[in-house]
Amino acid sequence: MKTLVIEDSTSSLKLLCGYIQKIGITPIPAETGAKGIDLFLAEHPDLILLDVMLPDLDGYEVARQIRLLEPPGDWTPIIFLSSMNKDKDIEMGIAAGGDDYLLKPISEIVLAAKIRAMQRIIQMRQSLLVLTRKLDTANQELKRLTSLDGLTGIANRRHFDEILSREWRRAMRQGEELSVLMCDIDFFKHYNDTFGHQSGDECLRQIALALVGSMERGGDLLARYGGEEFVAVLPGTTLDGASHIAAQMRQAICKLNITHPDTPFGKVTASFGVASAVAMPETDPLKIVGAADKALYKAKDAGRNRVFRTTSLDPQED
Ligand code: GH3
Ligand code: MG
Ligand code: MG
Ligand code: MG
Repeated sequence: MKTLVIEDSTSSLKLLCGYIQKIGITPIPAETGAKGIDLFLAEHPDLILLDVMLPDLDGYEVARQIRLLEPPGDWTPIIFLSSMNKDKDIEMGIAAGGDDYLLKPISEIVLAAKIRAMQRIIQMRQSLLVLTRKLDTANQELKRLTSLDGLTGIANRRHFDEILSREWRRAMRQGEELSVLMCDIDFFKHYNDTFGHQSGDECLRQIALALVGSMERGGDLLARYGGEEFVAVLPGTTLDGASHIAAQMRQAICKLNITHPDTPFGKVTASFGVASAVAMPETDPLKIVGAADKALYKAKDAGRNRVFRTTSLDPQED
């Protein structure tokens, strides 16, 4: 532990430094306010003993400057030393940023006791800082976990909704197009009925990986929308671009070659719906999701394992 001692009287300075050395603390002596501030910046002391009457800046001003120079969240205790014993003097010292006030002549015993009390506060504050940091890390992890789907490890629907509205606002500011892609596994109920729920889960995990692997841009987000449905938001992507991604995804699922007998393709496949729109303030981004969903059901009706696209956000329109 290091203590900065700012005191202009050479004899008092020597005495104070001797007292604190005796209790195992390293003193850093300073004879003026300006030198005290310089040493505060250079040495990062744990505690400051600060004389009020100094030849250059007064102690209150030194305390004010030190408080301004402290990085946010940092705190170095300051104990004023003064022979001025009026209530007003003590009030001014605390208002200037001091934490305690010791009357001169300084008693060695009282000084040691006050320093011990300050050390206790410093330690408690440090434990609190460590705890706060741990709590911050835990909160970040919790936030990450609440945005993920437990089965596949990709984003969940809650996170998708957040990202969609954020990307929609961004697209609006930039006058850009945004695409949404929906994917639904074909005959998946039958797959579960045939191979069991655990195999179904494993299939979902493999498909999620294949879908992620088919996306190209950092800003794209894939989420599990529901049971065996996935959704992707592709900011700054045209309908052609998004249809291309959907085609790649469809192929990637085919390439997994997951056997699914009694279906037209003999393996697990998926159908896709793609919708795009230029972001406008009057449009609800959920309408694009609805349009992609509608295109998806057309892909199902047309025989599954294919991509359908639309530019119409009107649910009544065909
Ligand atoms: P379609 O080709 O029309 O999409 O038919 P489908 O059987 O895939 O569609 P349907 O909506 O009838 O069935 C979806 C099935 O997905 C129901 C359920 O068995 C399965 N499923 C949903 N969530 C999960 C899950 O978390 N794990 C597993 N293993 N299966 C799931
Ligand atoms: Mg003095
Ligand atoms: Mg479904
Ligand atoms: Mg399905």
